[in-house]
Amino acid sequence: RAKDMGRNTFQFYQPEMNTSVGARLNLERRLRRALRDGEFLLHYQPQVDIESGKIVGMEALVRWLDPEVGLVPPSAFIPVAEESGLIGPLSEWVLREACRQNKAWQDEGLPPARVSVNLSARQFQQRDIAKLVTAILEETGLEPRYLELELTESTIMRNAEEAVVMLNELHALGIGLAIDDFGTGYSSLSYLKRFPVDRLKIDRSFVSDIGASSDDETITSAIIALAHSLQLQVIAEGVETAAQLDFLKERACNEMQGYFFARPMSHEAIAGLLQRERVAA
Ligand code: C2E
Ligand code: MG
Ligand code: MG
Ligand code: MG
Repeated sequence: RAKDMGRNTFQFYQPEMNTSVGARLNLERRLRRALRDGEFLLHYQPQVDIESGKIVGMEALVRWLDPEVGLVPPSAFIPVAEESGLIGPLSEWVLREACRQNKAWQDEGLPPARVSVNLSARQFQQRDIAKLVTAILEETGLEPRYLELELTESTIMRNAEEAVVMLNELHALGIGLAIDDFGTGYSSLSYLKRFPVDRLKIDRSFVSDIGASSDDETITSAIIALAHSLQLQVIAEGVETAAQLDFLKERACNEMQGYFFARPMSHEAIAGLLQRERVAA
């Protein structure tokens, strides 16, 4: 029996279980260290007005520069950060850094653009998010209209009544609000009308199948029409081809974001892009 075998019992446990729990704890420990030692950084991906072709915003996307591994994408650590409570301090860092950087660009004379920050479900559940945003805007001096928060459809719909209250609080600050990954959840239209949001982001899964799946084309067209009928702006994410862009343009989609225009990039690189626009203007 395992108990009788003393110290060697671990070898009778499910090995996958051992490694996954061990790996998780190890990751958690390294994430803690990453926060303490400043190993996180933001990449920025341009959001472009389809009509004018100008950069009007950028999405801040977090990365972890792990000294042992290199650049780690958010999918590899956000879930663990969410489960371990590290998402609070991490999100706060992202928000502060995005606001600080955007204000610094404006102070350098670059054309002003909004910065969009992803808010995790866990952080949205914390009732003091509006207070935190207020404090960070004050501290960094960024005007509220140059900050937008992205919340996924499923985050908002998880508790829609509560979401209405919190979105109203956030909206009252004068910041923008966008529903991310739109079309993958199940918003009811009656709620959509009550959410004080400014923008719908069409999920990449629909956009990527433009030209390949008529169902996804129909869904994309319907989301654009829905947004317009509710007086909302609409942006397509994951635009990778000229054909996709043409399709969106024909339907008067307002903005696009995707590899076709630019990949997420360092703060230096996007400052260079913004600078070029200023020179061209
Ligand atoms: P998201 O908010 O939907 O962000 C868009 C993701 O799509 C980004 O992946 C971006 O690099 C990728 N993408 C953009 N254009 C294209 C394209 O044309 N083709 C393809 N194939 N992909 C494209 P990334 O940076 O790996 O981020 C993944 C997700 O991680 C984000 O999805 C967001 O949910 C989450 N995330 C990123 N940064 C943060 C953060 O600071 N806080 C929180 N809570 N979540 C974050
Ligand atoms: Mg997003
Ligand atoms: Mg998205
Ligand atoms: Mg997405």
